[in-house]
Amino acid sequence: MSREDYEVVIGLEVHCELSTKTKIFCSCSTEFGGEPNSHCCPVCMAMPGTLPVLNEKVVEYAVKAGLATNCSIEKNSKNDRKNYFYPDNPKSYQISQFDKPLCYEGYVTIEDEEGNEKKIRIERIHIEEDAGKLNHDDYGRGSFVDLNRAGVPLIEVVSKPDLRSSYEVEAYMKKLKSIFEYIEVSDCKMQEGSLRADVNVSIRKKGAEKLGTRTEMKNMNSFKSIVRAIEYEIDRQIEVVEDGGEVIQETLRWDDISGRTFSMRDKEDAQDYRYFPEPDLVAIKLSEEYIENIRKSLPELPESRKKRYIDDIGLSLKAANFVTSSKYYSLMFDKSSEISGNPKAVSNWLMSDIARILNEKELEPDKIPFTAENLAELVVLIDKGTISNSIGKKVLEELFENPKEPSKIIEEKGWVQISDEGAIKEVVLKVLENNSQSVADYKAGKDKALGFLVGQAMKETKGKANPQLLNKLFIEELKK
Ligand code: ADP
Ligand code: ZN
Ligand code: MG
Repeated sequence: MSREDYEVVIGLEVHCELSTKTKIFCSCSTEFGGEPNSHCCPVCMAMPGTLPVLNEKVVEYAVKAGLATNCSIEKNSKNDRKNYFYPDNPKSYQISQFDKPLCYEGYVTIEDEEGNEKKIRIERIHIEEDAGKLNHDDYGRGSFVDLNRAGVPLIEVVSKPDLRSSYEVEAYMKKLKSIFEYIEVSDCKMQEGSLRADVNVSIRKKGAEKLGTRTEMKNMNSFKSIVRAIEYEIDRQIEVVEDGGEVIQETLRWDDISGRTFSMRDKEDAQDYRYFPEPDLVAIKLSEEYIENIRKSLPELPESRKKRYIDDIGLSLKAANFVTSSKYYSLMFDKSSEISGNPKAVSNWLMSDIARILNEKELEPDKIPFTAENLAELVVLIDKGTISNSIGKKVLEELFENPKEPSKIIEEKGWVQISDEGAIKEVVLKVLENNSQSVADYKAGKDKALGFLVGQAMKETKGKANPQLLNKLFIEELKK
């Protein structure tokens, strides 16, 4: 038996920190970083006698997230206590939601590996508070608690076990990230832990109906490690089953350095959270009007943008998917297209060179250092023939290093395309003189020789010769 005989089943619990100014139950700042314990008050430090007050913005943001992911909104919701002890959780319980989450039964659409649209169902989205952080001292003096993050609002998005590969998991998380960025409920910075996932993985024989036993990898916050961890875990589970064993339900920790998972705790010590309604908070009652007002305030979402780009602008499905994959791409696309009047060229730059450079530099699209105006000017300069496409690529590299107007860059670097017929003819004659073999080849019917000659002329002019003119002049001369 091999991997082809098994089906992979994955469900995700995605935690996303909301970008409200203040915490969920007090008025402390939610800003990332800061001196340890500088964004705290008696409430988020769990001093006896303090009482929480629910931040209304948290409800609004969570409802926004629910509506943007096609969820139904619960009009009679409430908070519940989830009891567990851990040193970064000073109350010894977390205020979360148990049986009445704010949002339920939604879905998002992704593209699977074959490019087909696929719905991933969302079971629920609930609100809860984040925990603090333990900083383990390198010199063995113990661990220090930092409660700056304690009480930062979170939404937890629980998917149905609808995902079938690491590819789909990445597509699903990217889709959630892009939606939450569009509706501005979270900055979704994975490296700061604003977006992280618990990944539940199981396998079953192809055709089997019953789900296999799952393992859970907690708090994963990079796409690369999520994909690696899933691939590792699939292989591990198949090996266990093939060896006649059984997968046991357990919580695993992925170690990025050794590239394997380690057991943290198994089902034996599965926690009983003893949920009960939070007595210090009132129930959350939402009116139809409140929900509809939020629905009306939603900006255009990626799915609808995608349709518009395909139907009205004529982008390919692939290009439209790419451009809408990030709010920052589509904002740049809209603006640069409008200024340059050439949306296809803009989408090509985004999809090819810009994406490649971001990838090389391991940067997110919000870190593009130049403006939409800069990209538009680059497109126009190529369309007008001021620079060639290959010089355009060099200008783009420069825009990443030292962003300024492309016209300034090409002026400073002397990259303006040579379109002066006299100047180009001089180069052509020189190249012909120095490459008599290629000339003979061309005349003997080897058309390829022309490409070589043009290449030589490009080298001579450092890529600045107008390619159409170059071709034309070569052919004229060779016919003589
Ligand atoms: P818990 O909160 O204890 O982890 P849940 O029942 O809420 O348990 O499930 C959490 C996640 O696990 C959900 O996203 C769900 O889709 C996923 N899941 C449940 N069963 C399986 C399974 N057999 N294989 C893969 N994922 C699963
Ligand atoms: Zn506080
Ligand atoms: Mg879980």
